[in-house]
Amino acid sequence: MSTLPLEVLVMLGQTIEKVVPITIGLALVFTLLTHFWACNPAAPWWRKREIVTDVVYWFFVPVFARVFRIGLMVLGAGVVFNIHDADELIAFYDNGHGPLAQLPLWVQGLLFLVLSDLMLYWLHRMFHGGGFWKYHAVHHSSEELEWISAARFHPVNLLIGTISVDVILLMAGISPNIMLWVGPFTTFHSAFVHANLNWTLGPFKYVLAGPVFHRWHHTMAERGGEKNFASTFPVLDLLFGTFYMPKHELPDAYGIADRGFPPSFGAQMLYPFRQ
Ligand SMILES: [Zn+2]
Ligand SMILES: [Zn+2]
Repeated sequence: MSTLPLEVLVMLGQTIEKVVPITIGLALVFTLLTHFWACNPAAPWWRKREIVTDVVYWFFVPVFARVFRIGLMVLGAGVVFNIHDADELIAFYDNGHGPLAQLPLWVQGLLFLVLSDLMLYWLHRMFHGGGFWKYHAVHHSSEELEWISAARFHPVNLLIGTISVDVILLMAGISPNIMLWVGPFTTFHSAFVHANLNWTLGPFKYVLAGPVFHRWHHTMAERGGEKNFASTFPVLDLLFGTFYMPKHELPDAYGIADRGFPPSFGAQMLYPFRQ
């Protein structure tokens, strides 16, 4: 009998075990910070209308991403490098491979962040156009934008996004060991940019994406909704002409034009396929 269902169950347990303490930590940090520096007047995050939807995404996304990241890494090594043996596979990815893996680990980590941000910038712009928007609309559907809205992504958006970008860079040779600090950084940072905080980051607004920068991206298209595509480094938006942070003004209304967008997780999963 196949042990796959059992393995998936174990992975699910492991992920939940990891996600719960991180969630409690983030909840404490952002509840406290929002108390002092709220960007918009709002009920506390746990009383937002679609909190159940956000919580489901919060647990679903890490499990989905993990399963597909591993799956695509195995598939990629087989197709591109002709590696099929389990031991060879582990040796191939263990500490990276080729010239990139020779660099100091912190350089590999930084390189990973810069290269993934560059790829994600253009993928993000692609998702704002034509046939791709219906998948990305899920991410923009939060009207009460909070740190917990960060995980709201359709699986198609994840696959042609963070998951494939991660796999490409790990296949290129960057050591997975960088995830030890890149992982916690991206988790914290993605919650941070969605948090209800009025932080512009002052002169550092070009260096690191902050809450005001990304909250502008969640406003309507005619405001900041077609600007600020970078996940981590706003300098990309500066470079490609999409930087938007008007002085003395804070973003204040979020969501998408489609008033009939479904609020529940299940209906949002199906939404793109019904368009
Ligand atoms: Zn977007
Ligand atoms: Zn967002």
